[in-house]
Amino acid sequence: MIPSVRLLAGRDRSARHRHPWVFSGAVDAVSGSPAPGEIVDVLDARGAFLGRGYYNEHSRIRVRMLTWAPGEVDEALWRDRVTAAIRRRDAIVFGDDAGKATNAYRLVHAEADLLPGLVVDRYGDVVVVQFLTAGVERVREVVVDAIDAALAPRCIFDRSDSASRAKEGLGTSVGAIRGDAPGPVEILENGVRFLVNVESGQKTGFYLDQRENRALVAEHARGRDVLDAFSHTGAFAAYAARAGARAVSLVDSSAASLRTARSNLENNAPAECACEFVAADVFEHLRELRGQGRRYDLVVLDPPKFASNRHQLENALRAYKDINLLAMELLAPEGMLATFSCSQVVDAASFTMAVSWAGVDAGRDVQILRRLGQGPDHPVLASFPESEYLKGLLCRVS
Ligand code: SAH
Repeated sequence: MIPSVRLLAGRDRSARHRHPWVFSGAVDAVSGSPAPGEIVDVLDARGAFLGRGYYNEHSRIRVRMLTWAPGEVDEALWRDRVTAAIRRRDAIVFGDDAGKATNAYRLVHAEADLLPGLVVDRYGDVVVVQFLTAGVERVREVVVDAIDAALAPRCIFDRSDSASRAKEGLGTSVGAIRGDAPGPVEILENGVRFLVNVESGQKTGFYLDQRENRALVAEHARGRDVLDAFSHTGAFAAYAARAGARAVSLVDSSAASLRTARSNLENNAPAECACEFVAADVFEHLRELRGQGRRYDLVVLDPPKFASNRHQLENALRAYKDINLLAMELLAPEGMLATFSCSQVVDAASFTMAVSWAGVDAGRDVQILRRLGQGPDHPVLASFPESEYLKGLLCRVS
């Protein structure tokens, strides 16, 4: 008998709408004492079958749904889903343009690829995996075998050190699962060369979700003075330098990220492009630059998540407004601003509002030329609005 989770009357709406999370508050009773990560049937208040997923009593997300059909959830299901997610990447990332010089992208985007809790990124011939929940921790071997069978990478590296694992009752796990630890990995993204520190860099080493946006922003970089704020390893700056920027200035609080950024700019920037690297808090540094009367033609603002939950929403919006105001005050007349939010709880409308407030306070007119989002290898599942996290605006600031 598969253990089961019965929902409270009136609390089955999101499960019926194929939302993949069942929260603890919706659960009436659990039968069969399922272990963390074990497969359970999810039933409505009258005992009718809604679907099947994996359970974890340690998490507020009690069940992550895997199927809405009565079929068995076995190793073959996991293997087939991992294989299918990997196989569809070629069409998603390259379309008809198989010659595109990109060899780094997300292979599995968790819930949005019907593989809750699993993230898999490809960096050339190295694959990095994050097992974020007890449910995927249990199928580790199957997942790794499926990746190996599909791609035969030089190394499959485990970066299961995300803070979110604690909420699942899991510790951290980092190291090579197949092959030898790879050291710095060189990748190509739209023909731009980057070094990625997969072993200890942020997330799995690189922010792959910005690939398309970097190419768009670079279209406005030729001959410009560019400020890349929250630069991490300098990806936006490297694109801009290659596209002919006059100067690029990178700011990040992480000295380690800036060290990698230096190599990335050396590998991509033409000799005549002046590169500056500043290890500092962006808020403080932008205030300093304002005091010095510095001006830039193009500013990229790609901050970390300012809000992790609804309670932090108001403070986050204030922070978005403040940072965008500072950026606008540094922009030359007719300057361009590429501004982002990766806070899932801040929706596109609220983010646009914060940018608009910044324009009002700066006394500038802000024209939105493009609305930006995460790349297509980070799909948004329509029934799971939470999977849409990255939003951006490309603005002209008069
Ligand atoms: N634009 C980058 C990704 C940015 S991720 C890219 O395309 O790769 C956010 C970055 O902000 C991280 O590198 C982090 O180190 C940095 N950061 C976080 N808080 C900061 C702060 N207050 N001041 C400066 N940098 C900060």
